[in-house]
Amino acid sequence: MFGMVPRERWKQWCPPDERNRIRLATHGLLVRGDDFTLVVEPGISGDVDRELFAITKEPTLEESLAGYGVAPEDVTHVLFTHLHFDHAGSGDRFPNATCIAQLREWEAMTSPNVLHSRSYRRADRPPEERLQLVDGAEEPLSGVAVRRTGGHTPGHQVVILEDQALFWGDLMPTRFHLSPPRFMAYDLMPADVAQRKIELLAESTEKGWLNFLYHELDPVPRRLVGKDGRYAWL
Ligand SMILES: [Zn+2]
Repeated sequence: MFGMVPRERWKQWCPPDERNRIRLATHGLLVRGDDFTLVVEPGISGDVDRELFAITKEPTLEESLAGYGVAPEDVTHVLFTHLHFDHAGSGDRFPNATCIAQLREWEAMTSPNVLHSRSYRRADRPPEERLQLVDGAEEPLSGVAVRRTGGHTPGHQVVILEDQALFWGDLMPTRFHLSPPRFMAYDLMPADVAQRKIELLAESTEKGWLNFLYHELDPVPRRLVGKDGRYAWL
């Protein structure tokens, strides 16, 4: 998860277990608009090696949504930052949902780079008849803007909600990835990750956005302070 950072350093932030695994979360978002019910990042589902990844935490997303009175058929849209298995799990869990992904990400999933071929699983492909492909920067739903960032994957995108909150996807997976050069070994284009992070950190701080981090254990979004490339969490 920490790329070039020596283990001696990252183990102080995220203590590994005896098998060298660290604790991570998969915190998606439920976004409700006047005429849509959106799930951002449905997470892990289906046939995955739960023992290898030590997937222990329930409830499932469906149970969490039920807690808000949302049944799977009530979800009108699902949005993916990218289509790796830990974000796009079983693309068809919501029978009425339009599935929103970047065109380049769909292309990467359907003809994957050799480095990522195992991270894109056929079982996670959103159904093509309900797929809505966006390209670059768009606002597919009122108040829900996306921007393609690339970096982690060719078509990775971030989500900006009403110019008030930023969902980083895997561009910044946890609060310990705040420093731009701190990337993941999974990032296909680390230099692009760093550059997009530099730009979005400046914008998020200037605009006072709330920052949602998908793999961060603490689900509470945070704001940033700082300038000129040096930032800290509030
Ligand atoms: Zn991820």
